[in-house]
Amino acid sequence: MRIPLIAGNWKMNGSLASNASLLEGIRAGAAGLGAELAVCVPAPYLAQTQTALSGSGVNWGAQDVSVHASGAYTGEISAAMLNDFACRYAIVGHSERRSYHGESDELVAQKAVTAIAGGLTPIVCVGETLEQREQGDTHAVVTRQLAPVLAAVAEAGLSKIVIAYEPVWAIGTGKTATPEMAQEVHELIRATLAQADAAAATTVRILYGGSMKPDNAAELLAKADIDGGLIGGASLKAADFLAIARAA
Ligand code: PEP
Repeated sequence: MRIPLIAGNWKMNGSLASNASLLEGIRAGAAGLGAELAVCVPAPYLAQTQTALSGSGVNWGAQDVSVHASGAYTGEISAAMLNDFACRYAIVGHSERRSYHGESDELVAQKAVTAIAGGLTPIVCVGETLEQREQGDTHAVVTRQLAPVLAAVAEAGLSKIVIAYEPVWAIGTGKTATPEMAQEVHELIRATLAQADAAAATTVRILYGGSMKPDNAAELLAKADIDGGLIGGASLKAADFLAIARAA
């Protein structure tokens, strides 16, 4: 049985003041949900998040992790540093990192391995652009993005990852994949996982991300292979984030 995961990706948003009320709201509404909640916050706010959410049952994490353990890597944050703030999750391969920071499928795979080795659960993002979808390349793109991850993580165990299917054209645009479109790709992802590790394929959570909101969450989350959501914009309002979790 896969417990749904509703994970917020705050991206580069927030301030100490605005986070305080957001975290307080999430903490206040987190009890009794049938889903696991997590927030992936900007690194400077990990300490604040740890203090605000400790003991609440809500997990937290980062939006990226370095492949390096330590040293001369200006601006990078290691898995050990994230562990200092009791992070559970690290997003890897978000489309914004792939496109603005040139992250390759192989680098994303290495980040997933590094996260696991450091005791974190990577949330590995995959997804096609609008152009790729229109050219009928969605399946090829998603399987190409997954292949190095599955190969690299095999030794550590595929059950240690979360996958997020995030069609790039749906992120932050207000355009959501229909539940059928999303389910079709989630099914493909699970079948691809099953070829590598049949047992892990039944337990790995595959999240949908891309303009998931309170009014479309229930129909997406009702699909057999959609095990939660990676939520951008709607995770910045406690009421919306919690409403999505209640739909799970
Ligand atoms: C995201 O950034 O991962 C995301 C899904 O954003 P949004 O919900 O705003 O589309």
